[in-house]
Amino acid sequence: MGAGGSDPIREVARLLAERRNAVVLTGAGISVESGIPSFRGAQGMWAKYDPTEYATLHAFMQSPRKVWEMLSEMVSVCGGAAPNAAHKGLAALEETGVVRAVITQNVDGLHQAAGSRRVIEYHGNLDELICVYCWKRYPTRDRWTPGSVPQCDCGEILKPNVVLFGEPIPWLAQEQAEEEARSCGVLVVIGTSAQVSPACDIPRIAKELGAAVVEINPEPTLLTRTVADVHLAGPASEILALLLQSIRDEEH
Ligand code: NAD
Ligand code: ZN
Repeated sequence: MGAGGSDPIREVARLLAERRNAVVLTGAGISVESGIPSFRGAQGMWAKYDPTEYATLHAFMQSPRKVWEMLSEMVSVCGGAAPNAAHKGLAALEETGVVRAVITQNVDGLHQAAGSRRVIEYHGNLDELICVYCWKRYPTRDRWTPGSVPQCDCGEILKPNVVLFGEPIPWLAQEQAEEEARSCGVLVVIGTSAQVSPACDIPRIAKELGAAVVEINPEPTLLTRTVADVHLAGPASEILALLLQSIRDEEH
């Protein structure tokens, strides 16, 4: 695939339509067009918040109020965001049986909001808060208001139920994601720089077990030229619109 192919969009559309067994791995890039900044790059969150000071479990345990400066911004931005054409395109591909599941590193809930049904949340979701002392959980909207630092009934400061650096992946999500990667025919990787471990292992697992790996990203990443069989360069919404149209053309 790719080499010598005249139209990579058409080749990928054909592959997806034939195998009807695709799994999608998404990262922050798919939500950029919904107004949620990614972490890396000039506009990214890391340009403003040093991840070692704001995004590790250790930092949260040491200074939860400081870490909530960043978390509050994320909860506000994600809470006000709506799914874009790329999220909706993936939901449409699931509806027609082309895509089987979405594994997302995102914590914004936008795949579900767009209508995707099988979504594996690899890094959790900002919708929920958890107490790392007594493990009680709360819906975020019940405990958090803009500018506040949410507290548990036990008096401790709550953490969003998302995976910070230094925390393990929730075991069920890890198991399901690996199973999907092992058994899919095509893995479509969208909007991830593939620098966060162990999420970056998912494309390698899929590839080793025989899946074709398709990457959608305006920029090359660590996967391009190593793991990806084809790189469709461009914003997710644009590439997915082209793929959807091409799959419809294939099927008629
Ligand atoms: P990243 O910030 O490391 O990389 C984002 C990637 O998206 C880059 O490769 C960039 O070129 C690409 N990109 C930018 N615009 C795009 C577009 N329109 N279409 C397609 N791709 C585009 O993101 P990551 O690899 O997901 O790692 C960051 C971690 O931070 C993840 O674990 C994620 O959980 C978390 N995070 C989540 C959100 C969210 O929930 N929306 C936002 C920021 C960070
Ligand atoms: Zn508690």
